[in-house]
Amino acid sequence: MQAPLINQTYAQLPAVLHALAELKPVAAPKLLIGNSTLAQHMGIDPSWLESDEAAQLLSGNQSAAHGSPLAMAYAGHQFGGFNPSLGDGRAMLLGDVVLADGTTRELHLKGSGRTQFSRGADGRATVSAMLREYIISEAMAALGVPTTRSLAVMATGERVWRQKPEQGAVLTRVAKSHVRVGTFQYLAARHDVETIRTLMNHEIARHMPGVTTAQDFLATAISRQAKLIAMWMSFGFIHGVMNTDNMQIAGETIDYGPCAFMDGFDPQKVFSSIDENGRYAFDKQPMIGLWNLTRLAECLLPVLDDDKTYAIKIAETELQNYMPQFEAAFEQRMLAKLGIDDLSQTDFIATTLQHMANARADFTLFFMGLTRGENVEKFFMSKLAHDEWDQQWNTLKSAKANELMKHHNPVYIARNHRVAEALAAAELGDLAPFHRLLNAVQSPFTEQQGFKDLEAAPLPQEEVLQTFCGT
Ligand code: AMP
Ligand code: MG
Repeated sequence: MQAPLINQTYAQLPAVLHALAELKPVAAPKLLIGNSTLAQHMGIDPSWLESDEAAQLLSGNQSAAHGSPLAMAYAGHQFGGFNPSLGDGRAMLLGDVVLADGTTRELHLKGSGRTQFSRGADGRATVSAMLREYIISEAMAALGVPTTRSLAVMATGERVWRQKPEQGAVLTRVAKSHVRVGTFQYLAARHDVETIRTLMNHEIARHMPGVTTAQDFLATAISRQAKLIAMWMSFGFIHGVMNTDNMQIAGETIDYGPCAFMDGFDPQKVFSSIDENGRYAFDKQPMIGLWNLTRLAECLLPVLDDDKTYAIKIAETELQNYMPQFEAAFEQRMLAKLGIDDLSQTDFIATTLQHMANARADFTLFFMGLTRGENVEKFFMSKLAHDEWDQQWNTLKSAKANELMKHHNPVYIARNHRVAEALAAAELGDLAPFHRLLNAVQSPFTEQQGFKDLEAAPLPQEEVLQTFCGT
């Protein structure tokens, strides 16, 4: 039961990128949930997660043996407005571990107390927000969506004041890297070209094998983001707060705040309580992805070429590749959801989504209904609309439609109302509903006996209309 070997390689990067994070010990750290599968994958003994040493380390009460925790500096466009100095205000980087395959993963504690970037806030997080991140990120991972992972949630035994007193917790988040678009913006705002180059090379070395030039680096970041957002949308996922500080270079979904899987399909759907203008609505996500990547490209101009005009040309060329890549990935996934292997049938995606939007068809149940060969008429405005659509569908379906659909249409998603219900029970000390839901969403494509209620759409009175930033 050995502790993982944690190094602090980020400390070797120029000092402008990080600040020492002082430990802010909590009263009574206690493991609420640990991720054995992820621990094993990372070469960590799952039983270590239950040790006192893990409780001390993963609640921010103790440093890892090989280096002090750091708060990472970053900037960011928040809802379009630029803030040159955000940084980890309630998180700290413990360090990184090397996996058996030679790749590295960072361990980051969220809710670990104030840092020099906290501004007026308390640096803490609540049990319910951290459990919410845990279950949604693990659901995303099981769907095959690139994402930061959740290794453990430690209750702190302390109160956190939000609208009401809540229980505090610290989440151990695992990522290939926590460098964001906003990390590059932080340096660009300080005209620190040398560190931009260093940071770029750091990222390339960590997770972009084969990349050798700044142009390749930008192209890879663009391509990963295009595919990521296509995947989100193929599962009806809304990130909710796609600020540039919440978009990571490695292409993993990061920062699970007011995010949600949609129930009834509405392309303009927004859940976030703070997104008053619908900037991060479902169907705006591809465009916002491009906007954020354009901010990244601006930061990279001085390393793309010494000649500014030529650098801009390179950036524009690469940014122009974003939309076609997004569209190709989205279309391929949506056609697979419909059991169609003829990739030229893209008009049928639009037709289907229009019908779904008209009738506010449940995004997951509609595709599950098709997969199971059920009559899906109830998801259409009229029998006529259904019959016309169905006739067309039957002419387009592939001979291996069922295989395609089974692998692209989940039975279980982390539905908002079920997540809310599980979190409410957890707050009262009952983690059973949370474990049950986690169990379902960790094998999203496999139907399990006794989980029918977890498939169902919310009744009108159960519907969650707003989600909140995970503070
Ligand atoms: P987020 O909404 O999680 O992306 O956070 C945006 C910024 O606010 C980041 O710099 C966070 O570190 C900071 N922040 C959010 N919540 C807190 C908190 N409770 N205490 C300190 N800083 C916070
Ligand atoms: Mg953030």
